[in-house]
Order: sequence, then C-alpha cells, then structure tokens
Amino acid sequence: MRLDKFVCKSTALSREEATQVIVAGQVKVNGSQVIQPNAQVHEDNDILLNGQLLQPRPFRYLMLHKPAGSICSNLDERYPSIFSQINLTNSSELHIAGRLDADTTGLVLATDDGRWSFNITRPTQQCYKVYRVGLSQPLTKVAAGRLTDGVQLQGVADLTLPAKIELLSSTEVKISITEGKFHQVKRMFAAVGNRVVSLHREQIGGISLDVPVGQWRDLTNEEVSLFA
Ligand code: URA
Repeated sequence: MRLDKFVCKSTALSREEATQVIVAGQVKVNGSQVIQPNAQVHEDNDILLNGQLLQPRPFRYLMLHKPAGSICSNLDERYPSIFSQINLTNSSELHIAGRLDADTTGLVLATDDGRWSFNITRPTQQCYKVYRVGLSQPLTKVAAGRLTDGVQLQGVADLTLPAKIELLSSTEVKISITEGKFHQVKRMFAAVGNRVVSLHREQIGGISLDVPVGQWRDLTNEEVSLFA
C-alpha cells in the first residue's frame, strides 16, 4: 500500500497530515528516510514515525443492510453514498466488495482489505450471490429454464453462467448467480422478456444478511475466513 495510507492506518493522522510528516522527513522505512507519500510499502516493513514503530490497525470486515436510494461508492450527484446513510466510523477507509444499484436493497460487504474483497469478486471464485427478485410478469417455465442454462446479455458474446432459480410465487423468485456483471440480474430477466421491479440481495457465499435495513455489524472470524 502507499506510505501515506500506511501512516493513516497506523496513527490518528489524516491523509493530509500523513503527507506532511512524510515530506518533512519524519518517516523511515526499513532504516531509510522516505519522503514520497506515494512510495509503496508492505505491512511487514519496519516503518518508524519520529523513531516510533508504526503498527497498522487490523483490517475491518463488515456487513451492511443497504437501503434503497443510496449508492455503493462515495461520489454521485443523484444519490447519497451508503456510507452517509449508515453510521460508521472512518468509513472513508472502507470499500465495497460487489456493488448494488441505487434501487437495490440488501447485503453489502465492506472492508479495507483489498485482497479479501478481490477474493469475493474475482470471477474464478464461483461465489454464489443470492437475490430475491420481484418481476413485472409471471416467470414462465421456459424462461426459468433459459435462466438456469445461461442467457445472452445484450452486448455480451458469452452466455451467462448457469444460475439457480427458486420460484417463490408467480412473480417472485430467488436467483443465485456466480457472476457480477453490471446490472446482471436486471439484464438476465430482460433477456427472457421480463422486467425486474424489485431486487434484494440476501446472501454472498456463506454470508447471510441478518441486520435490519440501515444497520451494520462486524463479520465473525468464521465469516471472514470464508474469503481469506
Ligand atoms: N444485478 C443487478 O441488476 N443489480 C444489482 O444491484 C445487483 C445485481
């Protein structure tokens, strides 16, 4: 990670203050003064600030219940960030592993551990994401079969990977998919001539949403280890 980020993660300094102490020559990495805030360092490096060994805070791993009308990034002109809707300290250090659309509700995982979130989102992980979907029209057996086998999304050459479908009522289904393409679920149902009217994520791999809307909790060690 960048040296300025490491200093922030190990002290109470803001990014600006961290930059100042680095540029002022107060930081040593493995015995040498480093004055570039963007220098790449490793957690195992010996990093001293004014002679004091810095120890980065442990990584954070959280589940959030995203409300509708918020977005999973920090900047957008139309919608507030999920982090402004949910009361969390130092949320600017966190990023989201697998974003949801503004109108989608449900399970969001947030962390400051880039390696962990990559393990969730990388395509070869085969991690099932489970969504409860409300539809504008009843889902036919033929359409359900097509979704299970794989459908062609507009502008994409390959078929989607096999999905699992569970019918909850004529217009409500649970769909489990391993991919995470942009608007994937909405585009899959559009590909079979239907339209998603509500979308809620219940589960990511072995992690199931169990906090009320607008709330969060730390993941257990067992949940974190699923993607370690
Ligand atoms: N698929 C979508 O279409 N939207 C989401 O928010 C998540 C998956």
